[in-house]
Amino acid sequence: MSMFKKMALFVFLFGVPALVFSQNNEGSSAKMDFEAYDPPSDLVTPAHEYTKAKFPFIDIHSHHWQMANQDLDKLLSEMNAMNMQVVNNLSGRGGAALKSMMDNVKKYGYEKRVTIFTNIELRSIDDPEWAANTVKQIEFDHANGACGLKIYKSQGMDNKDAAGNRIKITDPRIKPIWDKCAELNMPILIHSADPKQFWEPFDSLNERWLELKTHPNRKRDPGPFTWEQIISEQHDLFRQNPKTKFIAAHMAWFPNDLAKLGKLLDEMPNVYVEIGAVISELGRQPRMANKFFEKYQDRVLFGKDSYQPGEYPTYFRVLESDDEYFPYYKRYHAFWKMYGLALPDHILKKVYYKNALSLLPNIDASQFPK
Ligand SMILES: [Zn+2]
Repeated sequence: MSMFKKMALFVFLFGVPALVFSQNNEGSSAKMDFEAYDPPSDLVTPAHEYTKAKFPFIDIHSHHWQMANQDLDKLLSEMNAMNMQVVNNLSGRGGAALKSMMDNVKKYGYEKRVTIFTNIELRSIDDPEWAANTVKQIEFDHANGACGLKIYKSQGMDNKDAAGNRIKITDPRIKPIWDKCAELNMPILIHSADPKQFWEPFDSLNERWLELKTHPNRKRDPGPFTWEQIISEQHDLFRQNPKTKFIAAHMAWFPNDLAKLGKLLDEMPNVYVEIGAVISELGRQPRMANKFFEKYQDRVLFGKDSYQPGEYPTYFRVLESDDEYFPYYKRYHAFWKMYGLALPDHILKKVYYKNALSLLPNIDASQFPK
């Protein structure tokens, strides 16, 4: 047997398993877990550290359920550190609860720094006195300083009447409330539905797979109602009440389709949006988002939703910087990296405070730059 043939025989007998062995050894067939694979970026580009916003800002979407007993000096010192001039507490609850929150704000002397939206109870809508009583409550809350109304996402999804039927967002029995808010110039911040992916199959094609895995109670059964149904009810509400001003929470759940959101804003001049919990969507499309902010600069408000002081700098960085490819703070919201929009000052001022000031004239504008 020639040397060549001997070698060929050796490879035939041992070579193939040897090759497989060496591949395993080098890891080419290794599996990496999606959740584990999150390497730090090697990219070296200018990076800006943010602790505070460039301009004083109004957070239109915040929740402080214990405000009646809260240590407001602590809250104010956190706000001052990040340049938050006004916080809007959407969890005013209404009636005596709202009044005691407002009393606490007055006791501390922070009326210029803290505003409160009230809430209403919808599940007792079958009570023939419901509308009249709820209108009275709103008048009472307005007299006590409430400057808007917050409608939670339970309306349209979880709220049921006495017969067990879902109360639609557009239920005609609620109409007197929308009218009263228009009359008192109280904007309504309304959160309807949830991200569309919560209704979609929990599989490898779902961009919120990790969020649904870590928060399984967020999965929605598409049986009783679809995402499209809730969203279109919200749009009908806006159309049916052109004199009432609405702030659609979370960019109306269209931060991923800004062309569609733009069309809605074109059609409905009584609608504004806020950016709470959707900054990671804006940060992954800096060019499209920049065009959106240019065109709709009078319609977007700063909001955050979850009050976590450590999370605000990411918002400032997306809105203000021209940084490249930086992470969001919760991987289950964004496994992708983000880019700064570098919004010009005149747009930043509108988003940070001017648009909110025009919707809430009770806020003292002299505490903001011109
Ligand atoms: Zn909220």
